[in-house]
Amino acid sequence: MRHNFGAGPCILPQEVFKQASSAVLDFKDGLSILEISHRSPEFEAVVEETVRLVKELLNVPSGYSVLLLQGGASLQFSMVPMNLLPEGKSAAYLDSGVWASKAIKEVKYFGKANVVASSKDSNYTFIPKDFEIPADSAYFHYTSNNTIYGTELFDLPATKVPVVCDMSSDIMSRVIDVSKYDLIYAGAQKNIGPAGLTVVIVKDEILGKTDRAIPSMLDYKSHVDGGSMYNTPPVFSIYTAMLNLRWLKSKGGIAEIEKENIAKAKALYTEIDRNSLFKGTCAVEDRSRMNICFVMEDPELEKPFAKYADENGFEGLKGHRSVGGFRASMYNALPITSVHALIDLMQSFEEKYKK
Ligand code: PLP
Repeated sequence: MRHNFGAGPCILPQEVFKQASSAVLDFKDGLSILEISHRSPEFEAVVEETVRLVKELLNVPSGYSVLLLQGGASLQFSMVPMNLLPEGKSAAYLDSGVWASKAIKEVKYFGKANVVASSKDSNYTFIPKDFEIPADSAYFHYTSNNTIYGTELFDLPATKVPVVCDMSSDIMSRVIDVSKYDLIYAGAQKNIGPAGLTVVIVKDEILGKTDRAIPSMLDYKSHVDGGSMYNTPPVFSIYTAMLNLRWLKSKGGIAEIEKENIAKAKALYTEIDRNSLFKGTCAVEDRSRMNICFVMEDPELEKPFAKYADENGFEGLKGHRSVGGFRASMYNALPITSVHALIDLMQSFEEKYKK
């Protein structure tokens, strides 16, 4: 068995992949999940259960809609300002990584992005904390987990303006208080399900407040009114997400998986800090539980460690090209046994190479 530390897309438990693949062959009376009508009662039940599980697992309060959309988190970079930023107003953005900066880039088509702070100059090795959000901002946008750099913001910055959060890479990994947010979006492909599905959780009362004409497919209201069936939904991604959310519920839900995620991250960071050959790349107080980035003290050892890891059954450890080194992505589906195996690997490598 290989240990998959890849950043995605779509790291799910084996049992979920097995159930999903059997539904491709036979979901109902010999028909595939891919061919039954998305308007059939059977598929409507899949959508209903998926939405119910998102609400139940995240404890979504009433007054919010859960939408199952397409276009990835990247389309949300545009849909958010298109739907929430009135003409002539500005929205506050925290620039904590490449995904945040891509979100900022899209705002100019609809209004102004006011970048309240940025850690770009230090290659996003920390999350800026010292900033003010102007009270007249249409909303404040931030990325809770910076997948590429391995930083995570656990506490929501204090503000009275509506909060929008890109939670693509840490949603469902820890308990959050949804009532503090006005809109949460996430590409499904880390802890929810296969690529092709984007989950949006939106407070209904913030919609419909700009005078802008919005094309129907890009208007959250079309999807609220259409029950996420305004157009043909990504049936396989939704079905597999439903299976994965059932798995998460059977594990005891988010509070339980969070305990496991804390234990996994603590074990690996402890080893990175102890091992004389490795070092972490970002500020200790901002360390992500989902994506753990590290480099070798001696860059010459990078290739030998990558080879050693590959030979011993480790997948996906290569760091993103903008950071280099290694990145261990540890989403919900990665068992703690794989983390212990990686720690053993780092220790045996140290035995071989330490001076
Ligand atoms: N935001 C974050 C935090 C991400 O990690 C990613 C992709 O990994 C994106 C946005 C872009 O998502 P998508 O590829 O679904 O558009």
